[in-house]
Amino acid sequence: MISPVLPTYARADLTFERGEGAYLFTASGRKYLDFTSGVAVTALGHCHPHLIKRLTEQAQKLWHCSNLFQVAGQQKVAGRLIAHSFADSVFFCNSGAEAVECAIKVARKYQAEIGHPERYRLIACTGSFHGRTLSTLAAAGNEKYLKGFGPPAPGFDHVSFGNLNEMRARVGNETAGILVEPVQGEGGLATAPEGYLRGLRSICDEFGLVLVYDEVQSGMGRTGKLFAHEWEGVPPDVLATAKALGGGFPVGACLVTERAAIGMTPGTHGSTFGGNPLAMAVADAVLDVMLAPGFLEGVERIAEVLRRRLETLVGRYPGIFAEVRGKGLLVGVKCVVPNTEMVERLRNNGLLVAGAGENVVRLLAPLIVDEGHIEEAMGIIERVARQWTQ
Ligand SMILES: *Cc1c(COP(=O)(O)O)cnc(C)c1O
Repeated sequence: MISPVLPTYARADLTFERGEGAYLFTASGRKYLDFTSGVAVTALGHCHPHLIKRLTEQAQKLWHCSNLFQVAGQQKVAGRLIAHSFADSVFFCNSGAEAVECAIKVARKYQAEIGHPERYRLIACTGSFHGRTLSTLAAAGNEKYLKGFGPPAPGFDHVSFGNLNEMRARVGNETAGILVEPVQGEGGLATAPEGYLRGLRSICDEFGLVLVYDEVQSGMGRTGKLFAHEWEGVPPDVLATAKALGGGFPVGACLVTERAAIGMTPGTHGSTFGGNPLAMAVADAVLDVMLAPGFLEGVERIAEVLRRRLETLVGRYPGIFAEVRGKGLLVGVKCVVPNTEMVERLRNNGLLVAGAGENVVRLLAPLIVDEGHIEEAMGIIERVARQWTQ
């Protein structure tokens, strides 16, 4: 008999009752160190006091009023994102896929508006993940997720990630833009090689294309910068973010330059729930914490500690681990043993981690981890690795 909840996930048989900082607790009181962070969502840990305060305060004033009216929180959060990024304007939605959908629409509409309605195709990269809607599935082009859902939505071409020659060669008369993740999250933590984003920027500038970054996972502090592309200092025209933006409250955002947004006039896009007062109160609270002086530098520093420890582990257990991948706290290890079994064994030992493509285990620690948490995690990984080799 089918389960009451549509069985689209292979869920672990584990239910949590509460969370606190970097930990999750089951009803029976078993404690887990949470290095999944709800898949890079609860970046400030569970039940962060400042987020609770802002959410509950807002809950007593106004939850939802629709986008028929001004939403003060949107003005504020947009203003802060703009002040700390390349962007001039922001559209709020509820998820990563919606943020990417908006980005695709912005790119197509820009081309139509400047007299090139024939340019509607985006070039994306193999190994990427952009969400589960029909067009974001087509954008990523992952056969496994597209199979059985009819012909993929038109308008996407694919090249291998990190290869500028292939990218340049793929540009055609119908190309509207390029869509990439600066660090591929679900795909297995491949990181844009040095100079890649700069190369994409110059291809876009040369052919009049829109450069779109999907920073749904790599954004909001995960790599030690507010957005991962800041490491290379190459701004896009459009950027999708979500996951950690609401610290666990569903909210997404599409950031755009004024130039790229030329066609996004009243009536061209919308969302019933997008940017409602509750979501905006929490996103604003998340930004209070992330933009506080020293916070992102702290992420960068602790990520360095984690990386060094992982490198040591990989060196010590070459039969178990192949290499460390990713950037900042969007980090993981490519396994030699099956990653799904590694995830399970770590979980049985009290450490929650997430799988990813290419046999990678992702360690998505909350951005508030300290060295004590890292020691604890390394102790568990080491124990599991040692038992495995025996
Ligand atoms: C998670 C993710 C998405 C999809 O986000 P949803 O909130 O699940 O729709 C899109 N792009 C990237 C890079 C992601 O990691």
